[in-house]
Amino acid sequence: MNINITEFKARRQKLITSMTEGIAIIFTAPEVIRNRDSHYSYRFDSYFYYLTGFKEPESVVIIVAGNEPKSILFCRDKDLEREIWDGFRYGADAARDTFDFDETYSINELDVVVLKLLANQPKLYFSLGESDVNDSRVTGWLNALRTQARNGVAVPDEVGDVRKLIDEMRLYKSPYEIDLMRRSGAIAARAHNRAMQFVKPSMMEYEVEAEFLHEFYRSGAQAPAYTSIVAGGANACTLHYSANNAKLHEGDLLLIDAGCELEGYASDITRTFPVNGKFSSAQKEVYELVLAAQHAAISQVNITSHWNAPHEAALDVLIQGFIDLKLCKGSKDAVLESGDYRQFYMHRTGHWLGLDVHDAGEYKATKSKENLANWRMLEPNMTLTVEPGCYIRPADNVPKHFWNIGIRIEDDVLVTEHGCEVLTSNAVKSVADIEALMQASRLKLMT
Ligand code: CA
Repeated sequence: MNINITEFKARRQKLITSMTEGIAIIFTAPEVIRNRDSHYSYRFDSYFYYLTGFKEPESVVIIVAGNEPKSILFCRDKDLEREIWDGFRYGADAARDTFDFDETYSINELDVVVLKLLANQPKLYFSLGESDVNDSRVTGWLNALRTQARNGVAVPDEVGDVRKLIDEMRLYKSPYEIDLMRRSGAIAARAHNRAMQFVKPSMMEYEVEAEFLHEFYRSGAQAPAYTSIVAGGANACTLHYSANNAKLHEGDLLLIDAGCELEGYASDITRTFPVNGKFSSAQKEVYELVLAAQHAAISQVNITSHWNAPHEAALDVLIQGFIDLKLCKGSKDAVLESGDYRQFYMHRTGHWLGLDVHDAGEYKATKSKENLANWRMLEPNMTLTVEPGCYIRPADNVPKHFWNIGIRIEDDVLVTEHGCEVLTSNAVKSVADIEALMQASRLKLMT
C-alpha cells in the first residue's frame, strides 16, 4: 500500500491554517499489554494517523502554526536488535524523507525539544483528558517552562482541544478516503454473503465469526473494525451481544453486525438471515418492515436533509409497522409521543463512519441549549451508517409468534451531490436475494 504523502501533508497544512497560531501536540496510542509480555494487536490513534499516515507506536506529532509553520515527528530510533525481534522501524531520518516532515527527532529527545517548541507560544492545542499519562506529561512540560519565566520565557496561557479542529476535517472524506471506504465496504459485504452461504443449523456462532475473519484477512483488511456481533435467535435482542458462543438452531434468525478496517477505515454492516435459508412468515413480516424502514431512511440521505432526517423516516415506517403488527396500540402520533416504540426500537438509525466506527464530527449545527433540534445538514462526502432494527423480547403484550425475533439491517452510505451512494450494496439484502443465495449454496453442497 503506497502512502499518500501529499494528502497527509495537506491535512497538516489545513490544521495549521485553522489553528492560525500556537502549537498542537498529538500523541499516538500506546501499546497495551494483553497478558504478561504479549501485547494487544497495535492500533494507532486515529487523530495522529489522520495527520501523519505513520503507524508506529511511541510517536508524537507537533504542529506549529503562525509565522514559521512546521510539522515535526518524534518516533522510535532505528534499532537493529529490536528490529530483529519486532520488525522494521523507520527511525527519524527515514521517517522525515518518507513522510515529508519539516523535522524529525528521536522520541527520546521529546522532553528536551518540546520545551523549545512550546516556549513563547500563545496557545497550546492537545487532547486534554484523553489520557492521564499524556495529561501529566504536558502539565510537566508547562511547569518546566514556568521555571524559566524569569529568563523571559512565556508559557502558553490558552489551551484548546485539538480534536475539535480535526473533527471537522475528518467529517468530509477525500477521494482517497472514499476509495478506501468503498474497498473496506466491499470486503465486508463479501464476508456477509460468504456467511449466508456457509451457515447451517447446529453450527456454532463462532464458526460463522471465523468465516468473517477469514474473508477480512485474505482480502487485505488489517483487522475487524470492532468486535463482531454474531447473534443467533434470542441473542439478536441483546444489542451488543459479543459472546458468539451459542448454537444456531433450525428456524432461528442470525443477526451479524461485522465490518473490517482497511488502512484505518472502517466498514460497518449488519445483515439478518434465517439459519436454515428460509424466512418463516413471522420473520419475513418483521424483516420486510425493517427493510422498508431502511429504504425510507436511505432515501433521506441527501444534501437537502439534516442529520436526523433518516432516523425520522425510519421511525415513521417502523411505528406504522408496529401498529399494523399489533406490537403497539394507538395512532402513529400517540406511539411516537409516548415512546412506546422503544420497546422494539431503542437505538438511533446511524452514526458517522470513517477512521473510527463511531467517527468524529458533531451531529448538531450548534451546541446552543435553546435549540436542541438544530441538526446539521448532510453535505457531500460525509459518510454514515443507516441501521434501523426491531428487537422483540418475550412479553405479555407481544404476539407469541414474534418472540425473540431480532433484526437489524445496516449499510454504509456516502452523501453525494445528487443523493447518496451505498458503499456496502454488494451485501445481499432482500428476502428473495438472501433466500436465493442461501438456496444456491445448499444445492452446490449437495452436488
Ligand atoms: Ca454496526
